Amino acid sequence: MAEKVVAALGLGSNMGDRKNQICMALDSLAMHPHISVSAVSALYETPPWGKADQPAFLNAAVLIETDLAPRTLLEAALGIERSLGRVRGELWGPRTIDLDILLYGAAEVDEPGLTIPHPRIHERAFVIRPLADILPGTEIAGQTVAAWLAVLDVSGIETAAAVGWYPVNHPD
Ligand code: ATP
Ligand code: CA
Ligand code: CA
Repeated sequence: MAEKVVAALGLGSNMGDRKNQICMALDSLAMHPHISVSAVSALYETPPWGKADQPAFLNAAVLIETDLAPRTLLEAALGIERSLGRVRGELWGPRTIDLDILLYGAAEVDEPGLTIPHPRIHERAFVIRPLADILPGTEIAGQTVAAWLAVLDVSGIETAAAVGWYPVNHPD
């Protein structure tokens, strides 16, 4: 079996029952036989980015351990999106759920349809804010996640209620 790698995924939703969809996506990750969830950020309400005339998002970030290769992990993420009703319309438009691979260990991947680290992480407060909960000391594009948080414009981002999610296979 392949080595386990720690990866970080970003989650976002601005259509339908946003919080429920984020929790369902976390459930789906936790139930995947090759993924275990090790930490989940708080849940943040964030203004839309890229295309302003759409509802606010809820965003979170999750730390997982997996022995899936990057491409297989992407396929799993896209499958979870489909199961939660994601339909790709216009770029950066409204979505029931978005699951992006932010980091996959220290790996750098640049293939058609898959770039890791996700190239826009450090431009986006809605990604850096939750990522800072789970990986504050990790370096991205030359400085730590916490340092990016200090320089990005986080105005308009609010901490929503705690995610209220716990692993479906939680020992309790
Ligand atoms: P953005 O990538 O700017 O956040 P988006 O999430 O709205 O935009 P999508 O329509 O969800 O974009 O994804 C388009 C494609 O991006 C996916 O089909 C996938 O092949 C590709 N992609 C490339 N790198 C990644 C990555 N690290 N994580 C997820 N998808 C990726
Ligand atoms: Ca995205
Ligand atoms: Ca995406």
